[in-house]
Amino acid sequence: MGRFLVTGGAGYVGSHLVLALLDAGHEVVVYDNLRQGHRGAVPQAATLIEADIGNERRLELVLADGPWDAVFHFAALSLVGESMEKPFLYLLENAALGMRLIEACVHHGVGKFVLSSTANLFGNPRKIPIDETEPVEPGSPYGESKWMIERALHWAGQIHGLRFACLRYFNAAGADPAGRAGEDHDPETHLIPLVIDAALGRRAEISVFGGDYPTPDGTCIRDYIHVTDLADAHLRALHRLEQGSVTYNLGNGAGHSVLEVIRAVEQVSGRRVPVRMAGRRAGDPAVLVAASDRLRRETGWEPRYAEIGEIVRTALAWREGHPGGYED
Ligand code: UDP
Repeated sequence: MGRFLVTGGAGYVGSHLVLALLDAGHEVVVYDNLRQGHRGAVPQAATLIEADIGNERRLELVLADGPWDAVFHFAALSLVGESMEKPFLYLLENAALGMRLIEACVHHGVGKFVLSSTANLFGNPRKIPIDETEPVEPGSPYGESKWMIERALHWAGQIHGLRFACLRYFNAAGADPAGRAGEDHDPETHLIPLVIDAALGRRAEISVFGGDYPTPDGTCIRDYIHVTDLADAHLRALHRLEQGSVTYNLGNGAGHSVLEVIRAVEQVSGRRVPVRMAGRRAGDPAVLVAASDRLRRETGWEPRYAEIGEIVRTALAWREGHPGGYED
């Protein structure tokens, strides 16, 4: 069985990967500063190191304490809107620290690296669904920071032989179907948890950001992928690294509009969601849908929770059970 280091493993997607690694019998060390992550999101079976990836000395000590079969790198700032206001925060924290981590991995003989990347690499896609041949034009400093890390991995591969997987997530959603983990951001900005809160009466309404997009109902279309399916894709990508480095776009391949998501929440919860039409949010492209054919073909990945109703059902169950998130 393997031994893995997961930066940001106390965060939303990272914690679901940690569960998948533990379920597969691996040993897991989580490295997280708990600024956005939660202590309660780290299972007892994993070791938590509470530290920042900017803490070079600590990171060196941890990496030196190998061997590591791979490093999974999730630790990052991840809000597109915030990055449009504070570009250097994102470029420095995400890109520079990500590169330092890669350099330290190379130095300590870590041979495999899996990067949590983003669909925000495609700020203005020319073709939907978006496959891996789509030219990269980041939509924000957040997307740019991930692209810089992807490029650093490219050179670490060329020069030092590091094997890497760049996994470009579309819209991660849902919660562990067994209820062991879920989505808990502060502040919460993502559509599905906010719509669920509106259905549960925890907020007055949901604001729909723009009803005048060139889509059938005028609202933005996104590719919502279940976080457990995302975690599974990481394990498959890791396995695939035996044959060489990979880059995958990761989505279900089906788009849902904001209004469709609201209808799905109403159906699954049996409650009405108060809706208010609002203006567009800066930086939102009309449609983002992934073509994940390469991942399916090369790794045999298939989403187990592909239906938007199933995704919403797991998110609703977790949110109902954890009104205050992990603090409960
Ligand atoms: N959205 C919305 N109201 C909200 C939050 C999000 O209409 O309160 C829309 C947003 O404009 C986007 C979609 O829902 O089109 C998904 O947004 P989210 O922030 O969940 O993910 P993103 O696509 O930005 O990664």
